[in-house]
Amino acid sequence: MRTVAVKIALCTVFSAALAAAVQAAAPETAGPSATPPITPITAPKDRAYGGEIQLKVDASDTGHRIVRVHETLSGVGPDTVLLYPKWLPGTHAPEGTLDRIAGIRITANGAPVAWKRDPVDVFAFRLNLKAGTHAIDIDFDYLSPTSPKVGALEMSRDLMLIEWNELVFYPAGYFTRQIPAEVQLQLPADWQFGSALETASTDRAQTHFKRTTLETLIDSPLYAGRYAAKLDLDPGAAVPVRMDLFADRPEFLVMKPEYLEAYRNLVRQAYKLYGSHHYNHYDFLYSLSDQIQQNGLEHHQSSEDGTDPESFTKWDKEAFARDLLPHEFTHSWNGKFRRPADLWTPNYSVPMQDSLLWVYEGQTEYWGQVLAARSGLRTRQQALDQFAITAAHYEVQKGRQWRPLQDTTNDEIINPRRPQSWLDWQRFEDYYSESALIWLDADTWIREHSKGARSLDDFARAFFGINDGSFNVVTYTFDDIVKALNAVEPNDWSAFLRQRLDAIGKPVPLEGFHRGGYKLVYTDKPSDYQATTEDQRKRIDLLNSIGIEIDGKDSGKDGTLSQVIWDSPAFKAKLTEGAQILAINGIAYDADVLKDAIRAAHGKPAPIELIVKIGDRYLVANLDYHDGLRYPHLERDSAEPARLDEILAARP
Ligand SMILES: [Zn+2]
Repeated sequence: MRTVAVKIALCTVFSAALAAAVQAAAPETAGPSATPPITPITAPKDRAYGGEIQLKVDASDTGHRIVRVHETLSGVGPDTVLLYPKWLPGTHAPEGTLDRIAGIRITANGAPVAWKRDPVDVFAFRLNLKAGTHAIDIDFDYLSPTSPKVGALEMSRDLMLIEWNELVFYPAGYFTRQIPAEVQLQLPADWQFGSALETASTDRAQTHFKRTTLETLIDSPLYAGRYAAKLDLDPGAAVPVRMDLFADRPEFLVMKPEYLEAYRNLVRQAYKLYGSHHYNHYDFLYSLSDQIQQNGLEHHQSSEDGTDPESFTKWDKEAFARDLLPHEFTHSWNGKFRRPADLWTPNYSVPMQDSLLWVYEGQTEYWGQVLAARSGLRTRQQALDQFAITAAHYEVQKGRQWRPLQDTTNDEIINPRRPQSWLDWQRFEDYYSESALIWLDADTWIREHSKGARSLDDFARAFFGINDGSFNVVTYTFDDIVKALNAVEPNDWSAFLRQRLDAIGKPVPLEGFHRGGYKLVYTDKPSDYQATTEDQRKRIDLLNSIGIEIDGKDSGKDGTLSQVIWDSPAFKAKLTEGAQILAINGIAYDADVLKDAIRAAHGKPAPIELIVKIGDRYLVANLDYHDGLRYPHLERDSAEPARLDEILAARP
């Protein structure tokens, strides 16, 4: 005890001495000083670029999945800084593939040019160019992922997708629309391709594309493959809309006439909705493959669409994925032609702000669902079932208690779609489907208050349909949205939207269902649509009962939990994502055994006993849950007109 007292006394003496010393030396600070700022990179300006980009791309080495690029950049000067695209349109985030570049070699008139990466912006390369140098050559390899653990696959031996942003360096200091670009592409022999780019000439596997701007080039990816088909979705139209199909095997390309008709209906129904188009031609670049990623990415004159290889051969089972093309097509109007003002950027190094993604993605999600039904890509019932599933997932989502929907618009920047341990507690990208429920709410509100005379269709036509035929992007702000809604049907739209976007702890927005003449109910049987979707996604959805989603039999991870809902019965039984259920009440795991056990425990006091494997540990988990299986459905409520049916019906 004494020792301690002495220590304290010493300490006090020392502290007093130190304080005096610090006071005496007050002008000097003890810590490190800040590193001096480095020379800033020239900000982009809206001025003509006095040179051009010439790209020669060799994409024929599909075996190694390596794309070899030779770029000639003219118009350079002593201060030229090269940029590699970082902030990518459509991803709304800094997801540029800088980590896949190797073998960079820069020369001027054949002599090597030294380069140095900017230490702050590692996407920028500073050059040491001699006076009088007007053009440089840049050679490099783009190392496309060789396996899914490296990244989403882009190339197989039978098909590939080419994103030009991966294959180009461009000069800092200019708007990308001011930089001319020309491309030559070498593909494997006998492959076909599709792109919104216009072809100047093709000689066997070598294609020259017409000169364009860097902005349009990067917005015009290319799909190519051994097995391909080109379908006309708007026969006889002056402005063609094409489906460029690429598949792992030729038999997957065969589409029944009625399916083709549904895609043609999509074009008709979109034109009835928007009353305009903003392209000279449009290409759906559509891959049917499990050898490359199943992509969904919007562009102004094209879209990247990827689904299961058997999407056409197993049409009845694939309805869940058939809002993809309606969604991406809608983006030509909402997102590409009209774009949130804070999301539009002059080049790919200026950060994007994602505050209006609840319009850009949210209303697009809504029209994607609606147009899928109007075109016949989904039946009315399938569209209703999808709305029910969406709302039901939000009904158990606990993250709504702390995190406003508005804040989720930052998610693509926070997390570029890596898996999460507690998805529903964190929330993720809810600006897609929760916003779709809000737009349904707005649509039914307008229909009710205008006594059926007006709807969100009028907003879409007035807002996205302006300047028919024009490509020039028109940006929008929150106030523009409010003003346009007021022009359709007066309301305090600012409060209507802000309350739904900013409030926490609020129930799921179901007003659109109520006003639409439906109510959300639960039964112990999934809809056909939900059952088929689970089957196809190889997932078992028990989110609304015990609070889990399980990898299904064909997933190769049978019984492994892919999601556990925060505070759910499964959470309380200490289950986590990644845990594997081995047995239920002493019987070996099978999804049907688990469902039977949940049914049997309905209204009974005894818990469901699970044996679970987590890592190399086994444990017994008791599920204290007695409300049976619960699956969502929309049920007609005759207290209101069936406005939702009207919304989903094809426009004459
Ligand atoms: Zn989208």
